[in-house]
Amino acid sequence: MENFDVIVVGAGTSGCISSIFAKEKYENVLIIDKQNKLAKKILVTGNGRCNLSNINVNSKCYNQNIDKYLNEFNVKDTLAFFNKIGLEYYSDDEGRIYPISNSAKSVVDVLTNKIEQLGIKYNLNTEVKNISKTKNKYIIETTEKVFSANKVIVATGGNSLTNIILNLGIKIKNFTPSLVSLKINSSKNLANVRLSNVSVKLITDNQNTYQENGEILFRENGISGICIFNLSAYLSRYQNFNGELVIDLLPFKSENEIIDLLSERRQLNIPINKFFDGMFVKQIGYEILNRAKINEERLSNKLSDNEIKELSTIIKNLNFKVKGFLDNNQVYSGGISLSDLTLNLESKHKGLFFCGEICDVDGLCGGYNLQWAWTSGAIVGKNI
Ligand SMILES: Cc1cc2nc3c(=O)[nH]c(=O)nc-3n(C[C@H](O)[C@H](O)[C@H](O)COP(=O)(O)OP(=O)(O)OC[C@H]3O[C@@H](n4cnc5c(N)ncnc54)[C@H](O)[C@@H]3O)c2cc1C
Repeated sequence: MENFDVIVVGAGTSGCISSIFAKEKYENVLIIDKQNKLAKKILVTGNGRCNLSNINVNSKCYNQNIDKYLNEFNVKDTLAFFNKIGLEYYSDDEGRIYPISNSAKSVVDVLTNKIEQLGIKYNLNTEVKNISKTKNKYIIETTEKVFSANKVIVATGGNSLTNIILNLGIKIKNFTPSLVSLKINSSKNLANVRLSNVSVKLITDNQNTYQENGEILFRENGISGICIFNLSAYLSRYQNFNGELVIDLLPFKSENEIIDLLSERRQLNIPINKFFDGMFVKQIGYEILNRAKINEERLSNKLSDNEIKELSTIIKNLNFKVKGFLDNNQVYSGGISLSDLTLNLESKHKGLFFCGEICDVDGLCGGYNLQWAWTSGAIVGKNI
C-alpha cells in the first residue's frame, strides 16, 4: 500500500490551498478527487467569474464569529498568496474581488500551475469510500486503490462524507441548503418579473426579522436574487424553511407619500387595470389590484380613499409564504462544529484535519464562502 505524509481528500478550493501550504513542510503530498480536474468547483463560482473574496470580510458575514481564524489568514493574506502564484485581480464598488480576466478559469489555472510546479501528486476520477484509523496511520479506501497516510486533510465540501465522519465518532450538524432560491406560494403570474431596488423582509415563524435590499427575480415556482439567497441563509441556519417574505416595492417612499402619489394618479382618469402603468410592470400592477380585489371596470378617479390606502399598504407589504428551498443551492449550512476541532482545525483524532464547507461555517453572498475555504485551508496546510 502506497503511503504518503499527507493525503488531501478533495481537490476543491480549500483542498488545493491546503496542499500547497502542506507541501512546504512535507515531501509526499497526494490530493484525491472524484472529479476529472483540479479545483473544478471554482469554475462555476461567481457566474463563471469567481468572486474569490471580499475586502469587507468580517465575522458578521458568517453564521458565527470566525475572527480568530481570520486573524490567522485574512483577505490580505489571501491576496498575497494569489499575488505570489500569479493571479491578477481587482475589487468592485462593493468590495467583491474577482480575477482581472473575469474568468474563474484563471484561478483554477494558477492553483493547478502551483500544484504541478511543487510536485504535489494528484489522483483524479477517484472517489474516497472510507477513511479509517490504525495505530499510527490513516487508511484511505478509494474506488481505485487503497492508500495510507500519516496525516489527512478532509476538504470535501458541504453535504459530503457524512457516514464516514460519523463512523470516526465525529459529530455533524445536519446539512441544509443555503444561498438558494425560495419556493413561495402563488408566484406563477409574476414569473420572470425582475425588480431592482426593492427591500425584502423575512419573518421567520419564531418572529425573527431579517432584511435585505436589492434585486429579486420571480420564477415559475419561486423567487431568487442575491437578497433572497442571503435571506435563505437565515432560514437554513435555523434549519427550517417556514417564514414569510414581505416585499416593499418602493422602499424609498413612506406609505403616506405613496398615498399622496396614488391620490394624484387618480386624476389620470384611466381604466383601473391601467392604473399602475408607468409605475410598475404590468404583472406587478395586476398583482396589487388583485390583492386589493379592486374591480377593473371602473375609471381611476372612482377609487375611494380607502382603496388608495389599501393599495399603498400592499405596495409596502407584498407578502408571500415560503414553502421550501429550490434546487441549486450555492452552499450548505451545517457540518462539523468548530468547537469539536482545535484552532488548527484538527479533530479529536491526531493528524485528521478538516477545512472548507464541511465545517459548520457558512457565509452570505459576496465572496465570503470562498474566503472561508482559503482561510481554513491555509490554516490547516500551515499547521499540519
Ligand atoms: C454555483 C455556485 C456559485 C458559487 N459562487 C461563489 C462565489 O462567487 N463566491 C464565493 O465565495 N462562494 C461561491 N460559491 C461557494 C463556494 O464554491 C464554496 O463555498 C467553496 O467551493 C467550498 O470549498 P470547499 O473546499 O469546502 O469545497 P469544494 O470547493 O466544493 O471542493 C470539494 C471537493 O471535494 C471533492 N469530493 C467530495 N467528496 C469526495 C469523495 N468522496 N472523494 C473524492 N473527492 C470528493 C469534490 O469533487 C470537490 O472537488 C458558489 C457555489 C456554487 C455552487
